[in-house]
Amino acid sequence: MNQLRLSSMCVMLMAMESLSTFIGQAVYRVRHLLFPPRCVFCQIPLPERDGCCADCLMGIRIWPRSHCRRCGAVLSEALAPGPCGNCLRRPPPFDRSESLFCYEGPVREAILQWKLGGHPAAIHWLLDAATAHIRDVLGPEDLLLPIPMPLARMRRVGQHHAADLARWLARRGGCGWNWRILRRVGCQRRQSELSGRERQRNLRGAFALDWQSWDALHQRPARIWLVDDIQTTGATMREAARVAARLGKPLGTLSLARA
Ligand SMILES: [Zn+2]
Ligand SMILES: [Zn+2]
Repeated sequence: MNQLRLSSMCVMLMAMESLSTFIGQAVYRVRHLLFPPRCVFCQIPLPERDGCCADCLMGIRIWPRSHCRRCGAVLSEALAPGPCGNCLRRPPPFDRSESLFCYEGPVREAILQWKLGGHPAAIHWLLDAATAHIRDVLGPEDLLLPIPMPLARMRRVGQHHAADLARWLARRGGCGWNWRILRRVGCQRRQSELSGRERQRNLRGAFALDWQSWDALHQRPARIWLVDDIQTTGATMREAARVAARLGKPLGTLSLARA
C-alpha cells in the first residue's frame, strides 16, 4: 500500500516538474517576443540574452593598470606606480586615483545613453564586468562621496548622476556612500565649456562641507573616495579634493571613465 502511494507521489512530482519546465519555457518564449535580447550598447539583436555584442566588446578599453597610483596618469610598466613627474612637481590633494574605463567607443556611448537618454543598462553591464576590480580598489570601511553638481542644474536635469554612480559602486564594492557631506555652492558654468585655466578659476569656492552630515556618520571611514562619472582634465576632482581634505582622512578619486 505504502509502495503504491510512494510511486503515485513520484508520478505526480514528475508531472509537476515537467509542467513547471513547460511554463518556464513558455514564459521565456513570450519574454523573448516582447523584449528580444539586445546588445546593451548598440542595440543589435542577440541570440540568447541582453549583453554585449562582439564588436562592442572589442571597443571597450579598461583604463591601463599601469598608471601613477597618485594621480592615475598612464605610465610605462617600468615607471608605474609612480609617482609621476607631475605629482612630484605639484602633488595633488589626494594620494590615490583610479578609473575603470577609457572614455571612448562604447563606454562613451553608454555614458551618453545614461546621462542624456536616461538608460543606464550599459553602465550596469560595465560595472558588473568591473566588479572584481572595484572590490580590489574599495575597502569595506571606505566611504564614497559623489562630486556634486550645481543645485540649479540638478533641479533642471532631475538627476544626480555621480550620486547614482556612487550608490552603484558602493553596492558592488561593499562600502558606504554619502551624498550630503560634499556640497556644491553657487552655480558655475559647465566645465566642458571652458579651457584648462578657466576650469580651475570657475570652480574656486564651488565646494563646501556639510559638517553636520559628517558628524552624523556612524563610524569614521578608513578612506574617502571622490566619485565622478567622467574625468577629463581632473580640475573638478582636484578642487573637490582640496575641500574634502579638511575631513582629515586618506583621500582618493574614482571615476567611471577617464579621457
Ligand atoms: Zn553592440
Ligand atoms: Zn601622478
